[in-house]
Amino acid sequence: MYENETLSASVTAEVKRGIGHMFYVVDRVEMSYQTPEQVPDIFQQAWPYFLAFLIMETLVLRFERKPVIRPNDGITSLSHGIIMECGRLVFRGAENSAYIYIHEHFHMVDLPWNSAWTWYLAILGVDFCYYWVHRACHEVHLLWAQHQVHHSSEEYNLAVGLRQSALQGWCGFVFYLPLALFIPPAQFLTHQQFNLLYQFWIHTKTINTLGPLEWIFNTPKHHRVHHGCNLYCLDKNYGGFLIIWDRIFGTFAEEHKGEEIIYGLVYNQPSFNPVFLQVFYNKNIIKKWQAMNGWQDKLASVWKGPSWLPGKPRLGADEDKLDVSKGQKGEATLHDKPQNGHTCTAVMPHNIHQADGQICSDYCTTTDKLCSTLPTGKGSVRQLLKSLAIPRSVIIGCH
Ligand SMILES: [Zn+2]
Ligand SMILES: [Zn+2]
Repeated sequence: MYENETLSASVTAEVKRGIGHMFYVVDRVEMSYQTPEQVPDIFQQAWPYFLAFLIMETLVLRFERKPVIRPNDGITSLSHGIIMECGRLVFRGAENSAYIYIHEHFHMVDLPWNSAWTWYLAILGVDFCYYWVHRACHEVHLLWAQHQVHHSSEEYNLAVGLRQSALQGWCGFVFYLPLALFIPPAQFLTHQQFNLLYQFWIHTKTINTLGPLEWIFNTPKHHRVHHGCNLYCLDKNYGGFLIIWDRIFGTFAEEHKGEEIIYGLVYNQPSFNPVFLQVFYNKNIIKKWQAMNGWQDKLASVWKGPSWLPGKPRLGADEDKLDVSKGQKGEATLHDKPQNGHTCTAVMPHNIHQADGQICSDYCTTTDKLCSTLPTGKGSVRQLLKSLAIPRSVIIGCH
C-alpha cells in the first residue's frame, strides 16, 4: 500500500515536471549540470507530452466545433519530427564538439556552472542567438531552403511544431558559437533544448491571447503571424522563447484583426512526402543561381532573401510578392498572354518569378502542359486545375 502511494506520488511529480518543461518552467538546481555528458536528451523525453498535447488540442477543437488536424497533414508533420530526430543523431555531435572546443580553448570568463547568473544569462544568450538563426533562415535564401520545411503546412496546429528541418541545425549551429566564449557547454545544451521545446505549444489556434505575457514572451498569437504568408506576416516575429528581440530589432508584427491569416508557403508544394519536402527547395537554389548573370548576382541569389531579384531590395520588393489575402494563393486569374496560339500561364516555384520568361524552373513542364491544354482567351483556373488533377495549392500566376 505504502509502496503504491509512493509510486503514484513519484509518477505525478514526474508528469508535473514534464509538463513544466514544455513551458520552460524548470527547477534550476535540478537541471543544472557540470559537464555536457550529464545533460539528458530533454527533447527526446518530451515525445509522450507532444502526443498528449496533440490529443488535447484535438479535443478542444472538436468541443469548439472547429476543424481538427487533417490526417495527411498531421502524419506528414509527425514524420518530419521523426526525420529531425534522426538528423539530430547524425549532426549534433559535430555541433556540440565545435562549441565545446571553442569553450575549452577560447572562453573569456569562467562562469560557475551552478550559479543563478549563469542560468539566466544562458536563457537570454541562447534565445538571442536563436532570434538571429531564425531571422537568417528567412532572410538568406540558402538557409530558407532548409527552414521552409517548418512553414510547409497550410494548417496551424501543434503537429506543425514538430515539422522541423533535418538540415537546419547543420547550417545554424555557427550562430550559437559566440556563446561558447562565456556560457559553459552544459548550460548551452540544456537551454538550447528547452528553447526548442518551448516553441512546440505556441503552434495552436486554440489560445487566442495571453494578455500582458504577450509583451515579453513568444505566444501562439505572435507565432501565428510568423507562419502566415499574408504580406504583413512575411519576415516577422522570429523570436523563440522571448518576443522582445523582434520588438527591439524592428521585426515585430501584431496579428491583424479582420484579416484571416493564410498559413503555409506562398507557393505551396502539392506533396505530403516528407522526404521530398525536406530537400526539394535546394533545387530552386541551384536553378536561381544558374539563371543569374555575373558572379555578383549569382552570389546574391544565395545569400540575399528568397524574394530577391536583381536590382531589388535585399528581401525583395512587396510589389513582386503575391498578396495571398486577395485570394492569389491557389487561385490566380489568367491573363491573356498569347504564346504559340495559346493563353499562357506559369506555375511558379517559390519566389522565382516568371518575369521575362528567363527564370522558370520546377514547373516549366507543367506550364507547357497548361499552355497546350488551354484554349485561347481567359479560362477558369479552378476548372483547369481540376481537369489536370493539380491540387488546389499549386499557384498559377501570370505577371
Ligand atoms: Zn520560421
Ligand atoms: Zn513555427
